[in-house]
Amino acid sequence: GRTKVVVIGAGPAGLTVANLLHRAGIDCLVLERETREFIEQRARAGFIEEWAVRELERHGLADGLLRRAPTQGSFEFRVDGVRHQFDYAELTGHRHFVYPQQELVKDLLTGYPGPIQFSVEDIRLHDLATSPSVTYAGQRVDCDFVAGCDGARGICQSYVPATITRHDYGIGWLALLAEAPPSARSVVFGIHPLGFAGHMARTPSVTRYYLQCSPGDTADDWPDDRVWTQLRTRLAVPGEPIIDGPLIEKRVLPMHNYVLDRMSAGRLHLAGEAAHLVAPIAAKGMNLAIHDALLLTRGIAAWYDGDPSTLDGYSAACLGRVWQYQEFSLWLSDLFHGSRDPFTHQLIQARLRRLLNSRKAAESFAEIYIGQHADF
Ligand code: FAD
Repeated sequence: GRTKVVVIGAGPAGLTVANLLHRAGIDCLVLERETREFIEQRARAGFIEEWAVRELERHGLADGLLRRAPTQGSFEFRVDGVRHQFDYAELTGHRHFVYPQQELVKDLLTGYPGPIQFSVEDIRLHDLATSPSVTYAGQRVDCDFVAGCDGARGICQSYVPATITRHDYGIGWLALLAEAPPSARSVVFGIHPLGFAGHMARTPSVTRYYLQCSPGDTADDWPDDRVWTQLRTRLAVPGEPIIDGPLIEKRVLPMHNYVLDRMSAGRLHLAGEAAHLVAPIAAKGMNLAIHDALLLTRGIAAWYDGDPSTLDGYSAACLGRVWQYQEFSLWLSDLFHGSRDPFTHQLIQARLRRLLNSRKAAESFAEIYIGQHADF
C-alpha cells in the first residue's frame, strides 16, 4: 500500500500528529504495538500546560479537556511542617489542566477517523533517505515520511544516527495511584530529610502520589503500610490529613533523562519520548510530546505546500524547548531531593526563601513551570 505519512506509536505525540495531518488533508496510517484497550487504560501524566491545551483547542482537539478537566494555578511546598503556597496563575495568567493522559489518548483516538492498526509487531523502516517504506507482518507501506512517535522503548530512535546525551539522577520515584480523593486542593511538593514526596490530583476519586526511593527498589520493598507512613511523615502539616485508599499502581521509576542531538534522518522525524526523555519531576514529558507534534505537522504541511525549510529546522525548533525543560527539571530536582544533610537543607531553605519572597525570582520560576506560549 501507499500513504503519505506512516505514524509509528499512538501515544500523545503520534495521535496528535495523526489528528493534525488528517485535519490538514494529509493521508496517514498509524501503527501501534499495543492493543487499543491497553493504551486507553495506561495511566501516566496528568498536568497539561495551558498553551498546549489552547493549541489542541485551535485544532478542534480539546473538547473533552475543556469540558472535563479542572484547572490548577497554584501548588504548595511543604517543608518542616509548614505550607508555602505558590500561586503561578497570579504571576503568569496561565493554569494547568488536570486531565489523565489516558483520557487525552481516548479523545485523540475518537477524534481521528483515519486508518490505525493495533497490536502491530516487528516494524522495520527502509530507504529513509529518499523513498521510505515501512514493513510489518508481511506487509509493506510506501510513504513520503515516517513520524517516529514510539516513545522511549520504540524502534525508530535506532534509525537516527544521533548522539545521545544522558543524565542519571541516581534516585528513584515510587509512582503510586491511590483510589482516594485528593488530600489537598493543589499539587503538593514535600521536601523532607527522608526524601521527596509529591501529591497530585488526577480525578475526584484517584490521586497520584510519589515517594523518593532508591533506584534499585522494587514495589515489594514498599508494602502499603510503609507507603502511607512515609507519605504522612513527609507531607505532614497540621490539620491536613492524608486520605488513604487502595493503591492501584505502585512502581519504581528510575529518574533519568536523555536527549538526542538530532531528531531527523532523511524522511524519518522523531517526536516525543522517541527523541528525548525528561523524568516526570516537573511534569513536562507529555507537554514536550505535544509541542513536537505541533511543529512536525506544521513542517510536513509546509513541505507539501512547497516549502521544505520548516521541516529542515524541525530538530532545532524542538530541542530549544527540550533543553529549557531539562534544565528546569534538574533545578527542581535539586530543590526536591537536596535535603539530605543539614548543610544542603539550609541551601534548600535559602532557595525557597528567594523563590517565595522575591517577585522577580517567582516570576522567572513561574514562567517555565507553566511553560511559555509559543507561536506555532
Ligand atoms: P508514549 O506515550 O510512550 O507513546 C509511544 C507509543 O508507541 C506507545 O503507545 C507505545 O505502545 C508505542 N510503541 C512503542 N514501541 C513501538 C513499536 N516498536 N511499534 C509500534 N508502536 C510502538 N508528562 C507531563 O507532561 N505531565 C505529567 O504530569 C507527567 N506525569 C508522568 C507521570 C508518570 C508516572 C510517567 C511515567 C510519565 C509522566 N509524564 C508526564 C511523561 C509522559 O507520560 C510522557 O512524556 C508521554 O507519554 C510521552 O508521549 P509519547 O507519545 O512521546 O510516548
